[in-house]
Amino acid sequence: MLRVEHIGIAVKSLETAIPLYEKLLNAPCYKTESVASEKVNTAFFRQGESKVELLESSDAEGVIAKFIERKGEGIHHIAFEVEDIHAEMDRLRNEGFTLLNEQPKQGADNKLVCFIHPKGTNGVLVEICQEIR
Ligand code: ZN
Repeated sequence: MLRVEHIGIAVKSLETAIPLYEKLLNAPCYKTESVASEKVNTAFFRQGESKVELLESSDAEGVIAKFIERKGEGIHHIAFEVEDIHAEMDRLRNEGFTLLNEQPKQGADNKLVCFIHPKGTNGVLVEICQEIR
């Protein structure tokens, strides 16, 4: 994998979390984007060669709402950038990891993404992502 592309953080409210993270990181939020299929609103900050992605649920039944219900706000996933997401998904499948989607899906920030089940990764939800070129 190429680098940590971003760290995803589940928040209750982007309205309050965005100004807080702008202060924390001393960097402006450069993009907000809603992903209707994932029931999530996102906000992005650049930090060196990586990013921070804030995730707010757009629906009471969304995965982020459920995550916050169970665990509270906090780190939701770590995303690694890969060169070829199909090849990397095949490699991870062959290594015995459980992929949460069979095909890459459209994520925020112009990415194809796939998630790996946290039960096989010591409790960490891992995302792999590839820039759509
Ligand atoms: Zn992500």
